[in-house]
Amino acid sequence: MRTPVVAANWKMNKDLSEAKSLVSALLADYKKANTEVYIAPPFVFLNEVQQHIKESGIQLAAQNMNAAASGAHTGEISSSMLKSVGASTVILGHSERRDIYGETDAQINEKVKTALAADMQVIFCFGEQLEERKASTHFEVVKSQLASGLAGVDADAYASIVLAYEPVWAIGTGETASPEQAQEMHAFIREYLRKEVSVEVADQTRILYGGSVKPANAADLFSRPDIDGGLIGGASLQADDFLAIVNAAS
Ligand code: PEP
Repeated sequence: MRTPVVAANWKMNKDLSEAKSLVSALLADYKKANTEVYIAPPFVFLNEVQQHIKESGIQLAAQNMNAAASGAHTGEISSSMLKSVGASTVILGHSERRDIYGETDAQINEKVKTALAADMQVIFCFGEQLEERKASTHFEVVKSQLASGLAGVDADAYASIVLAYEPVWAIGTGETASPEQAQEMHAFIREYLRKEVSVEVADQTRILYGGSVKPANAADLFSRPDIDGGLIGGASLQADDFLAIVNAAS
């Protein structure tokens, strides 16, 4: 039995007072249940958000991280910095990092290895572009992103990895993969893990869906056998929407 996961990716939204209001609104109505819940605010609010959520059962995550341990990397944030403010989970490989900031599979792989070596949990994101789906190369693309991004990761380390399938054409567009399309890809991913890693890893790894998940479509998506929760962008910026999605996973 896999514990569901719902993670909020606030991206580059909110100022400090808005971040505090959103956290207060979430905590006012949040009831801890079976689902693991994460909030990934912008770096500058990690410490503040952690002060509010640390007794709640909601966990803190970062949206990105540098692969280096420390040193001359102006503007960057390391694993030890994240852990020192209570973030022991990090989102890596998000399509916005890949597409806007040019992160390659090899760079993402370096970050994944650094995070795992630092005993952090990784939410590893991947997914195809619209043209790739139209050309029916989406399974191939996903397989290659998994193989490269997770190259050299031991079977044991998968206990610290949550996968997040996010078809790029569904992120922030209001267009969701249908539950059938999402389930089809999640089943493919689980089969990939079974063949390439192990039966145990395939059975135990949580695979999230991300891409315009809303209260209205969450329950249907999460009811599918291989969808273990969601990575939520836009709908995580409204407390009631995010909590409705959390409840749909429980
Ligand atoms: C995301 O950025 O990970 C995401 C899924 O965004 P949205 O929910 O807004 O599509």
